[in-house]
Amino acid sequence: MITVIRIGHRPFRDKRITTHVALVSRAFGADRILVDEKDETLESTVNRVTENFGGNFSIKTGINWKKEFKDFNGVKVNLSMYGINVDDRIGAIRESVKGKDVIILVGAEKVPIDAYNIADYNIAIANQPHSEVSALAIFLDRFYEGKELEKKYEGKMNVIPMDNGKMVKFIPDEQQCMKLLYGEKADERIIEHVTTVY
Ligand code: SAM
Repeated sequence: MITVIRIGHRPFRDKRITTHVALVSRAFGADRILVDEKDETLESTVNRVTENFGGNFSIKTGINWKKEFKDFNGVKVNLSMYGINVDDRIGAIRESVKGKDVIILVGAEKVPIDAYNIADYNIAIANQPHSEVSALAIFLDRFYEGKELEKKYEGKMNVIPMDNGKMVKFIPDEQQCMKLLYGEKADERIIEHVTTVY
């Protein structure tokens, strides 16, 4: 099992970026995300994506990050620009995981030094400042060697890949799914963008 732990979340400032951290976690093969600050809006946004698009991803907010990270029974990774470059450690990380669970910590603002001391691996995705979203995506992609992109999901809404346009297969109730995705604009969007197949 792969857990992502997001610390330093400020519900009013970081709503969008923490949502993206959660969506990247889900889409790139993690099983759950823990977020330090309680944020029910974030929980319902992420749960709605999982209900619509499938999979078993879960979210829990309002946790004690230091306790969760310290007591985690498995391999602990802290993503930080101050760490060792991912390509110099990913082999060792995969070797030490071998059936164990993994927890990956990403920050928002300044990450407390405790995170660095508790981690088994402090890993940089280049030693340059960028974003927790990109760092997490690249780490998971390196960890899974790209295989996470082949994972199949089955939800109420299933994207049918195509070269042009947008196609979504809706199961079981098309109108209900459209309303969930597009709200009151649902009818317009059906005509504009989406061809439905059964
Ligand atoms: N300046 C903060 C610090 O010193 O702790 C980090 C702020 S950064 C915007 C937020 C998070 O993005 C970091 O905590 C880290 O998890 C991730 N991050 C940013 N750049 C990274 C990099 N080059 N490699 C790995 N993670 C990175």
